[in-house]
Amino acid sequence: MAAVTPDIDDLRLCVHCGICLPQCPTYRVLGEEMDSPRGRLYLMRAAAEGRLGFTETFARHLDLCLGCRACETACPAGVPFGSLLEATRSQLAERGPRPRAALLCRLLRGMFTEPRRLGVMLGGLRLYQRSGLRHLVRATRVLALAPRLAAMEALLPDVPSAPALPELIPAQGRRRLGRAGLLTGCIQRHLFPDVNRDTARLLSLAGYDVVVPRDQGCCGALELHAGFLDDFRDRARSLIATFPVDLDVIVVNAAGCGLAMKEYGRWMPGEAVVAAFAEKIRDVTEVLVDAELPLGPLDLTATYHDACHLAHGQRIRAEPRRLLGRIPDLRLVPLTESDLCCGSAGVYNLLEPEVADRLLSMKIDRIAETGAAAVVTGNPGCLLQIAKGCQERGLGIEVVHPVTLLARATRRAVK
Ligand code: SF4
Ligand code: SF4
Repeated sequence: MAAVTPDIDDLRLCVHCGICLPQCPTYRVLGEEMDSPRGRLYLMRAAAEGRLGFTETFARHLDLCLGCRACETACPAGVPFGSLLEATRSQLAERGPRPRAALLCRLLRGMFTEPRRLGVMLGGLRLYQRSGLRHLVRATRVLALAPRLAAMEALLPDVPSAPALPELIPAQGRRRLGRAGLLTGCIQRHLFPDVNRDTARLLSLAGYDVVVPRDQGCCGALELHAGFLDDFRDRARSLIATFPVDLDVIVVNAAGCGLAMKEYGRWMPGEAVVAAFAEKIRDVTEVLVDAELPLGPLDLTATYHDACHLAHGQRIRAEPRRLLGRIPDLRLVPLTESDLCCGSAGVYNLLEPEVADRLLSMKIDRIAETGAAAVVTGNPGCLLQIAKGCQERGLGIEVVHPVTLLARATRRAVK
């Protein structure tokens, strides 16, 4: 059976103090108690205790949650909101009242979670962008008739050609640190192939042999967040099978994928292979933070946006800042509310474009205040969303992954 019952003891941990409310992006935008963590926990507990059915209203309040986990960071009682949400969503996926929403969600997941299918689709999109058809479509404003399609079209950058990385990139560093597997991801591999290439190069410079399994698929994070646990588990087990068992570490450069992979064991308890795999997962900044890297100067003012699944999910905040702080001449300026969600949240910005756009607008306001020439963030969804926001405001700010700046600095190092 696919669905998991949320832990009633965990649900009862909430003492209704409300400390999480100002940290919750959807409460900030919508101002509704039932769109706050406290309200959602109240609903989830009522359903778990049999006092509330899986109604449209219940499903709607859970759909509107970004799954950003800012409430977990804020909560003094230690309520594990993320796992409670995902378990309740698995029940909704099985018994929920929303065939239309579920169909749309499945459609989007189907597009994003099959790397080969996504590659073919994006090849078509590249043709659309380069043939002049995009210019024509935008000029006629025909996409205004389909707001979700318009949101997707606006979000996508120019699709680059994405040659596959070699399956083994040998260590170049003075010390040999071990064998590191690299997750290439779905969106990352096709829209940000340079981030994968730079990650592999930095790991190699640091002293790792980098292993890039050619047949690796999707990590299943989107399915987990939507509550489709059987599909999620199938994807996770297939992914695990493509990585050699003798790796010392498995490196991820997409915050959402990394969090889902670190939590594989929770959803597949008692599976030793799964637990051993999850134990090796590290964000790229965790692995590189203390590595010896030859870094040359970058004369740049940059600010850092905390991807939710890195800051709130994996509790990684210091490592990327420390790494960026090691680049000579780079000035890292603070971003107010750097860990407030930008509205990306997997496919949330496609499913809920109004809320996502309001969050993006708040984020871009804060970014514009910094005067930075670059925004740095460690998740492909945030890269796309913030780049879209900067472009719409005509800000001319570069939006980059931390490894992009690190790799650029290594190219400026004195040999
Ligand atoms: S996960 Fe994020 S959006 Fe959802 S209730 Fe918690 S803080 Fe609010
Ligand atoms: S901070 Fe924690 S205990 Fe307080 S209302 Fe929010 S979830 Fe409940």
